[in-house]
Amino acid sequence: MKKLISLLLIIVLLISAFCSCAQQYSDPTAKIKTLKSDDKYRNFYEIFVGSFNDSNNDGVGDINGIIEKLDYLNDGNPKTDNDLGIDGIWLTPIMPSDSYHKYDVRNYFAIDEQFGTMKDFDNLVKQCHERGIKLIIDMVLNHSSNTHPLFESACEQALKGDLDHDAKYYEIARYDTDPGDAYTAIGNGYYYESNFSPHMPEWNIFERRTRKYFAKIADFWLNGHSVDGFRLDATKYYNCHHGDGKEFLKWYYGECKKLKPDVYVVGENWTGNSEICEMYSSGTDSFFAFGFADSTGGFVNAVRNHNGVGLISSVAKFEKNSKRENENRINCYFLSNHDQKRSANYLKTVGIKGTKMAAALYMLMPGNPYIYYGEEIGLSQNASADDDEYKREPMIWDKNNLPDIIVNGKTSAEESQAPFGGVKQQEKNEKSLLSFYKRIIKIKNQNPEIARGEIFEIKTGDNEIVEYYTEYKGSKIYVIHNLNDSEEKNVRLPEKLRLRGDLVASNTKEIDKHPAVSEKALILPPYSTAVLKK
Ligand code: CA
Repeated sequence: MKKLISLLLIIVLLISAFCSCAQQYSDPTAKIKTLKSDDKYRNFYEIFVGSFNDSNNDGVGDINGIIEKLDYLNDGNPKTDNDLGIDGIWLTPIMPSDSYHKYDVRNYFAIDEQFGTMKDFDNLVKQCHERGIKLIIDMVLNHSSNTHPLFESACEQALKGDLDHDAKYYEIARYDTDPGDAYTAIGNGYYYESNFSPHMPEWNIFERRTRKYFAKIADFWLNGHSVDGFRLDATKYYNCHHGDGKEFLKWYYGECKKLKPDVYVVGENWTGNSEICEMYSSGTDSFFAFGFADSTGGFVNAVRNHNGVGLISSVAKFEKNSKRENENRINCYFLSNHDQKRSANYLKTVGIKGTKMAAALYMLMPGNPYIYYGEEIGLSQNASADDDEYKREPMIWDKNNLPDIIVNGKTSAEESQAPFGGVKQQEKNEKSLLSFYKRIIKIKNQNPEIARGEIFEIKTGDNEIVEYYTEYKGSKIYVIHNLNDSEEKNVRLPEKLRLRGDLVASNTKEIDKHPAVSEKALILPPYSTAVLKK
C-alpha cells in the first residue's frame, strides 16, 4: 500500500512538473484558424517532373508519381499539420519533346509519354483542385523543338524560297552574310533565330497566325484541361528586332484572361529589378524576383553576413516600383530554381540553422514564394559537376531507400545529398528543416496580410535585426528576425502587439527559447523570428 501511494505521488508530481513546463510556452499558432486561399496569393512549389517521383520504376519521374505525393504537399485539410501546406504547383514542361527537360516542345496538345497520359494529367488536376491547390504548367512560347511539324514545313518552304506561308510562324529570313551565333543555317542563304540552341528555333510571336495558334494552345489547357495558369519561359527573349516583348505579353495575358478570367500567369524574366518592373506594364500577374535569388541574392547574403541592412528597403523599393506598373502585381521571391545551383550547396556554410533563417526571410515576404522541390529538406546537388542535370537531381523521399531515377542518363541520387535526411527522416522530427517550412506556411496561412500586404521597413539601427510590417486592408502584421546566431535581442515594439507566430531556428540538440512579448518589448532569442499583430 505504501508503495502504491508513493508511486501515485510520483505520478502526480510528474504530471504537475510537465504542466508547469507546458505553461511556460504556449504556441501562439495553436488557437489561430488556418485559412485556405481563395485568390492568387499562394505558396508555390516547383516540380521538375522527371526528377520528383517515379510511379512505374522506369527511371523517370512522372505524373502519377506526383499524384502519389500530393498528400505530402497538401492533404486538403487546413486543420492538419502533417502536410507542407502548399497551395500552388508549377510543373516544368510536360508536353512531348525530344529532350529530358522538355523545354523544346514538339507537340503543344499532348503529354510526353515518359510522363504519362492525358488521363493521368486530368486526374492530377482534379486531385489538386480537390485539395485547394492551383496547378500551373510551363508554357514555352519563345521557341519550339526543331522537330515541331510547323518548323519542319517552314524549313521546306523556305528552302524553296517561300517565306509567305509556314515560314512566317518562325524567325526565318534570308541573309547575305552569316547573321551570327544566335542563328542557324537552313540552306540557300536562309537562317532561323535560335538563341538557346539549334534545336530550339524561335517562334515569330509578332505574326498573326502564330498568335492564333498560341491562343488555341492556351484554350486547350485552360479550358480543355482545367489548368489554372502558366509559367512563361524565357520572356526576356520575347523582345526582338521587329517587336516589343511587352506588347506580346499584354496580348497573351489578355487572351488568357478572356479564356479564363481568374487565370494566373508568372513570367521568367531573368534580369534585374528595373527590367522586371517594366515587364509588369503588360498586366501579367507575376514575375520571379531574380534580383533577390541565388547565392548572391539578398536573403542568402543577409544570413551569411548576419546583416539585414538594405534587404527590406530594396524589397520595398521593388514592391513599390512594380506596383506602379501593375496595381495587382504579385512578386515571386525564391532562393533557386531548376536553372540555378541548389541553394543547399551554398547554404552549407551556415548550417541547418542558417538555412532555416534563409527560408524564414524569403517565405515571409509579400507575394508568392516558390520552393524548388527538395529545398524544404535541404537537398543538395553533386557539387563536382556543373551541368544542368545536377541542378535537377532526384527528390530524396527516404535516405535509406534512394530513388532509381537517373537524370538524362547522367546522375542519380546519393545519400550525401540529403545531409538532414530525406522526407521520411524529417517528417517525424519537429526540428527538421521540413517541419520549419511547414510552420512558416502555417503562419502565412493564418495571417493573410503577410502575402497580400504592402511592405514597410522599420529601421532599428541594429544590423542583425530585420524588421518590417505588411499592411493589408488596414490590418498590419509585423515580422521581426534576429540574424544573430548566439545573442538574444531586446526589440522595442512600435505599439502594443501580440505574438501570432514564432519560428526558432534551432537544431535537435538545443532546447528552444521562444520569442516573448511584454508590453512594448520583444525578447528575440538567437536565430528566431516573431510575427506579431495588434
Ligand atoms: Ca516513370
